Amino acid sequence: MEVILILAHAEADGSLAKSAREALHAAATLHKSLAGSKFVIGLVGENVQAAANSIAACTATRYLGVTGADFAQPRYGTDAAAAEAICKAAQATVVVAPATSRWARVLAGVAQRLGGRADTHVTGVSAADGKISVNRWYYRQRMESSQTRTQRPWILGIDPGSQTPCVCGAGNASVEKISVNLTDAATRTTIIGVREPKADAQTIRPDAKLLFVTGAGWTKKQADGQTHLPEAEKIILDFLKKSRASLGSSKSLVDQSGEGQAILPFLSHLNQVGQTGATPRHPKGLSTCCHGEEPHTVGWRFIGERRAISLDPNCGWARGKADVLYVADAFKVMMKVNELLATKSI
Ligand SMILES: Cc1cc2nc3c(=O)[nH]c(=O)nc-3n(C[C@H](O)[C@H](O)[C@H](O)COP(=O)(O)OP(=O)(O)OC[C@H]3O[C@@H](n4cnc5c(N)ncnc54)[C@H](O)[C@@H]3O)c2cc1C
Repeated sequence: MEVILILAHAEADGSLAKSAREALHAAATLHKSLAGSKFVIGLVGENVQAAANSIAACTATRYLGVTGADFAQPRYGTDAAAAEAICKAAQATVVVAPATSRWARVLAGVAQRLGGRADTHVTGVSAADGKISVNRWYYRQRMESSQTRTQRPWILGIDPGSQTPCVCGAGNASVEKISVNLTDAATRTTIIGVREPKADAQTIRPDAKLLFVTGAGWTKKQADGQTHLPEAEKIILDFLKKSRASLGSSKSLVDQSGEGQAILPFLSHLNQVGQTGATPRHPKGLSTCCHGEEPHTVGWRFIGERRAISLDPNCGWARGKADVLYVADAFKVMMKVNELLATKSI
């Protein structure tokens, strides 16, 4: 009999993140399709009662919690010990966890401690005839595999954004407290502060409905024989401000910025989409001044509706990579879009 454990951590405000609800949805669906399986919830954090209550109406029969000040901050030593203790207490055979930065760094270590196996970047979990299989992508999202394992416990890191978040309701959950004996070494790392860009400088927005991609064309000489960098910067920032889209880029453009040229200062390699960049998930994507070459568009695997604006009617987007290609000057189109957005509240 499989014991399915969802392993989640409470956020600083005690709530559960969307990624945890996504993993919960995957685990609950698996539980439903595996006759005779048990479903347990394991939570880690300073205080997990509010998080447990927020999902109390789900189909789990047991709630386990590792709590206390030592478990408030993400830290390998304490998080791995907490996850190990919960897995043992639950006698879990399948552990489903959101691949947050906090869990992603401990799951493989926990599998090692328990004599199990961990799989990362899981995008689907299902069961048929009592056999569990998981899906994940390989070769930069060019190939999808479905795979099974006999080794237990089997720990699955679910890619955030790949599942529908569960909508199970709230209630009163009775959380069994699991104690963990921490060695001094487990707590020797301490977070002394957080450095992050100002809210308006944060251009990567995973929950945005639209991915707006900028390509090297924004920095190229235009029809008048001149480059128009200040205008490009203004148009792009204006659009981001009005649309709250997430900003992606081609490699060519972020490379220019990284080579010390004052190109578009708000772009970094973190914005790069593609084979050597990110594979973001958004319902829609709009590419501008970008050629749409394969090493870039492979990063668009999880973008729903794709549109592109390029001057070149033979660009990669025209060759089946986009649903709609506007053969047009992106400066003019985006200026008009910004004008229209200014008249609407979105
Ligand atoms: C191993 C490897 C890995 C790679 N990984 C990545 C990756 O992860 N991500 C990535 O992006 N690339 C990657 N590349 C590079 C990729 O092959 C392309 O070189 C890069 O994506 C090109 O960027 P671009 O389309 O912005 O620039 P360009 O190829 O220079 O295209 C600019 C486009 O802008 C258009 N344009 C110019 N002015 C305007 C205007 N006013 N209006 C509309 N259109 C205009 C032009 O017509 C042109 O089509 C990789 C390459 C290799 C070899």
